[in-house]
Amino acid sequence: MNEWNIQSRGHVCEACGKSFANHETFHTVLCDERRDFRRSDICVACWKKDYSENARERKGFISYWHGVYEAPVAAPEVIQKDTAETLLRKLVALNDPRYVPAGYILAVMLERKRLLKVKEQFTREGRRVFIYEHPKTGDIFTIVDPNLQLNQLAEVQHDVARLLEHGLETPTPAPIPSPATTPPPAAPEPVLPPDTLNPGTATAEALPAATAA
Ligand SMILES: [Zn+2]
Repeated sequence: MNEWNIQSRGHVCEACGKSFANHETFHTVLCDERRDFRRSDICVACWKKDYSENARERKGFISYWHGVYEAPVAAPEVIQKDTAETLLRKLVALNDPRYVPAGYILAVMLERKRLLKVKEQFTREGRRVFIYEHPKTGDIFTIVDPNLQLNQLAEVQHDVARLLEHGLETPTPAPIPSPATTPPPAAPEPVLPPDTLNPGTATAEALPAATAA
């Protein structure tokens, strides 16, 4: 299974090929296809005809929801510093396992800011998998829980802060300077206290796996 991916909202119905109109309601089905989770976006007519009765019986069915299609608007090209969201998108595109912990922290940050919503969570091959939706664009993000221990958290948070501050220019994470020689750079924004590191829940009893650490 891929550690993570992003799947954009489709612009056409997968069943009949018809383009979605702006503000048209459509249905999304997520299925487990072994290597990846595959999303299918389906128009209302095809949904009623071929899917509504048996969507849950489809092979590998994981989740289903419906949404409203929004036609893309041309965004002005602005060069700006990475936000948590742009950084997460870049990390997923890199598909480098080293960045999985940072990606996970970014996804949790974005959820706290209500920029991502947990659509589904489940366990695959012994690991927690979160399906996040970006409500504005309809993109879905598959994020695997790296199962961070509390003693790894500070380092990952430091990585995230450094990436937000300096971007992905340096492909290898620099060694963390020892406080005795160089004062650590101030984080651009507080990342996350460890007790909030549990996506999809409002309570702070996070990280059951880390309590033994
Ligand atoms: Zn259709």
